[in-house]
Amino acid sequence: MKNKVLMIVSNGLDNYLDLFRILAKEDFFQIRLLEFDDLLTSKSTLYLRNYHYSDVIIALESSLFGANQEILTDFLSAIYDQKFTNFLILYRTPDFLTKDGLQKGQQNCFYLPEKGCEASLKPNLILYLYKIYHASSLSVSLLDYIKFSFSGIVQEELLKKKTEEIEELNQQLSYSNKIDFLTKLYNRKTIFEFLEIEQKRTRRGIWRFQNHSVTADSPDQQRDFQNKPNGRITDHLAIFTVMMIDVDHFKVINDLYGHLLGDQVLKTLGELFADNRIFRETDLAGRIGGEEFIIILPETNVANALIPARRLMEKIRRIKFRSHDNRIFRVTVSIGMSQYSSHDKEREEIIKRADKALYYAKNKGRNRIVVYEDIDWKE
Ligand code: GH3
Ligand code: MG
Ligand code: MG
Repeated sequence: MKNKVLMIVSNGLDNYLDLFRILAKEDFFQIRLLEFDDLLTSKSTLYLRNYHYSDVIIALESSLFGANQEILTDFLSAIYDQKFTNFLILYRTPDFLTKDGLQKGQQNCFYLPEKGCEASLKPNLILYLYKIYHASSLSVSLLDYIKFSFSGIVQEELLKKKTEEIEELNQQLSYSNKIDFLTKLYNRKTIFEFLEIEQKRTRRGIWRFQNHSVTADSPDQQRDFQNKPNGRITDHLAIFTVMMIDVDHFKVINDLYGHLLGDQVLKTLGELFADNRIFRETDLAGRIGGEEFIIILPETNVANALIPARRLMEKIRRIKFRSHDNRIFRVTVSIGMSQYSSHDKEREEIIKRADKALYYAKNKGRNRIVVYEDIDWKE
C-alpha cells in the first residue's frame, strides 16, 4: 500500500488528523495534507502527477462543498482531467447516511462520528479506503484489460487485412505473370512450361509401357492409324498432341477494321480455345505471339486431337464479326499439329513439327487442319 496516497484537504478535519497520521504510520498509505488555499495554486495538482490516478484518494470534508463551490469546482475539474476520480467525502452529520455509514448511491461517502469513537472509526475507515482503492484498481485493470484485448483484436484484424491484401497482390502478380492480358489464356512462358511438364509425364508413361511389355500400341506405332481413332486405351496413354493455331490473313483484318477490332477477334478466338465445349478441361491453351496460339492436349494422339480441332474450325466458321461501320466479316484459322514421339529429345521438336504442319496448311490455302504425321511430303 506504500504507493497509495490519501490526500486530505484538512480544513474542517482538524479533529481527525491524528487518526489519519496513525493510519499512515502503520504504513497503510502515505498521507498528504493540504490546506484549502492550496487548491487555489497548482501545488496540489503538481504533487498528484507523481502518482497513478488509481492510487490516489482525495479526502474532503463535506461542508467545504457548500461554502467554496467555485474554487472546488475549478480544482475538481483540473484533477478530473488527469483522471483523478477517487474521492472520499467525509460527513460529520449522520442525517445523510444510511445505517451502513453510506449515503445511498454515494459509494465514496464516509461518516465521521464525533471524537471519542476512534476505536471503531479506525478499522472502518481502513476498510472503507480499501474498498475505494479496490474498486478503482478493479476498474483500472478492467480498462487495461479491455484496451489490451481491443488492441489485440485491432492488430489481429489489421494483420489479417494486410495478409489478405498481400495474398491478393501476390495472386494478381502470379496471375499476370502467367496469363496473357488480352485473351486470358496462358502466356508464352507458361504454356512452354506446361509443355515441358507434359513431355516429362509422357516420357515416364512410355517408360512404364516398356517395363510392362505393353508393346502392341507403343506410341510410335500409333502413327499407322491414318487419322482414325481406334478407341484403344493406348490412344490416350503416354502420348500428347500439340496444336498450333494461326489466324489467317490477320494483317488484312487489322488493316480493314482497325487494330482494336483485331484485338476483339483475338479475344473471341481465345474464348473458344478455352471453351470446355470444344476442348477438354485438361487441355491447355496459350498465346505464344500476336495471332499465334498453342493448345496442348494431354493424353491425346493426333487422331483424337482432330476431333476438337474440327469442332473448333466449325465454330469459328459460324462466327460473324461486325465492324464499327456494321460490316460483317468472318475469320479463318490454320492449324498444324503433331503428337509426341518417344524419339523427341528436345522440347522444341514437337513444336517444330506442328509449326511445319501449320506452314504446310498455309501453303495449301489456309483455313485447314494439317497433321504433321499425315503429311505426304512427296505431294
Ligand atoms: P497468315 O495467314 O499468313 O498468317 O497472314 P497474317 O496476316 O495473319 O500473318 P502475319 O504474321 O504476316 O501477320 C500477323 C499480323 O497480326 C501482324 C500484326 O499486326 C497482327 N498482330 C499481332 N499481334 C496483334 C495483336 O495483339 N492485336 C492485333 N490487333 N493485331 C496483332
Ligand atoms: Mg502469324
Ligand atoms: Mg496469321
